[in-house]
Amino acid sequence: MANTLRFGPIAVPLSQAFFVSKHAFGLVNLKPTQPGHVLVVSRRPVARLGDLSPDEVADLFVQGQRVGRAVEKLHAADGLTLCVQDGAAAGQTVPHVHLHVIPRRPGDFADNDDVYRELESRVDNDRRQPRSAADMAAEAAVMRRELGDWDDAI
Ligand code: AMP
Repeated sequence: MANTLRFGPIAVPLSQAFFVSKHAFGLVNLKPTQPGHVLVVSRRPVARLGDLSPDEVADLFVQGQRVGRAVEKLHAADGLTLCVQDGAAAGQTVPHVHLHVIPRRPGDFADNDDVYRELESRVDNDRRQPRSAADMAAEAAVMRRELGDWDDAI
């Protein structure tokens, strides 16, 4: 397996991924909206959810369930925001299908739906500092341990 994974135009180091399945991989976030905000990315580098086959969609969301359980436990959360910004008009900035998995707690945003503003707003995105590679690799290692496997690594 190569030592990078493709996320849109970006070659992300394997050290920042935390599972690889048949059709998806898990990636820690460069600029999370919340601690524990991670991504489940389709292995095939297509932009839109509608570009995926039914099997690819199923794997993306089955992995989203698994990853959601892990981040909810690790971040002592009570819920999850799972969402896809499907196309530039919907706020997508990396043109490669990915599911955002965000742990949620009551009161974590002043207005509950501000999570969507944070996700979509370029102003908020520019304000957040990119994390270091070491920080991201450390989070990926914790996620890998929690998930208990490197699923179907190819
Ligand atoms: P969207 O705006 O829905 O396309 O989401 C893109 C997501 O990718 C955001 O949560 C970004 O913080 C995240 N992101 C951008 N570049 C990287 C990167 N090199 N590694 C990990 N996450 C990234």
